[in-house]
Amino acid sequence: RAKTDGRNRTVVFDPRMQEDLMQSQKMLQAFTHAIKNNEFELFYQPQYNKDHQVIGVEALIRWQKGKDLAGVEHYLSPIDFIPVAEETGLIIPLGDWVIEQACAQLAQWQQDPAFENLVVSVNISAKQLAQADFSDKLLAAVSAYKINSRQLKLEITESCLLQNVSDLINKLLKIKEYGFKISLDDFGTGYSSLSYLKRLPVDEIKIDRSFVRDIMTDESDAIMVKAIIDLSRNFGLEVIAEGVETSEQLDRLIEFGCAFFQGYYFNKPLKLSELNNLILT
Ligand code: C2E
Ligand code: MG
Ligand code: MG
Ligand code: MG
Repeated sequence: RAKTDGRNRTVVFDPRMQEDLMQSQKMLQAFTHAIKNNEFELFYQPQYNKDHQVIGVEALIRWQKGKDLAGVEHYLSPIDFIPVAEETGLIIPLGDWVIEQACAQLAQWQQDPAFENLVVSVNISAKQLAQADFSDKLLAAVSAYKINSRQLKLEITESCLLQNVSDLINKLLKIKEYGFKISLDDFGTGYSSLSYLKRLPVDEIKIDRSFVRDIMTDESDAIMVKAIIDLSRNFGLEVIAEGVETSEQLDRLIEFGCAFFQGYYFNKPLKLSELNNLILT
């Protein structure tokens, strides 16, 4: 964080930067403690097909902050700690925990026919994917839990494209060879051009919530969503829309040819017990 002046080699500290540094060091300690202390929890948001059947779930991490006086559990949102985890490198142990937890859950669900075919999507940060041994880590996790790699889907974002793209493609090919599924999350919000759709070996495109949100009111967003769906389908990719909140949005997406859906219209992210109830009733 210190700025070095090239000419006289003095180091200038900005007090604000030092404060940031202390903050992130505190966060680092809190994180390390939280992983050891099992303070993280996965919520699961169901994904549906047109027939309103649950075909998968997205695992979304939460940080337990204890109960308030009324006994209500409080959680810290991933929006507030994933960026810090990414900056500090703690996304690696945290991401390992998420993968392990998802695999353990899949192994448990495997015992029950109602859950047998469920696919679990996990969010993967660019830094995780950049690890040289990432694909081997995945393989080790599914073998340890004796689950089928086809039941694990990795949600990556266009931020992964900031690295060398041909390296990325090779890595994704290897991951797919192992049987894992890959989804391109938040599609349309990143820097990538549509030409990556053709080059990237992904199975699924996930249309970002921001486009779905205005699909009924903003005709240009509607046109864009329709175009993304058409293009993806022509490339043989599956398409899922995130952030579906109303039946009107759902109908319009179906009309556009979208086959899979996720959003508050169906369910918010659920605690494990709530998801189990949903599937079993
Ligand atoms: P994301 O992967 O795009 O996940 C979708 C987010 O949209 C989730 O927020 C979800 O709760 C929210 N959402 C789903 N349906 C609706 C809807 O109909 N309306 C609205 N307004 N929101 C909806 P969440 O759980 O707060 O997660 C935020 C982001 O944090 C995720 O965005 C993902 O990028 C990141 N994240 C979550 N869990 C993990 C994780 O385990 N690892 C990593 N690296 N990132 C994670
Ligand atoms: Mg996601
Ligand atoms: Mg998303
Ligand atoms: Mg999003």
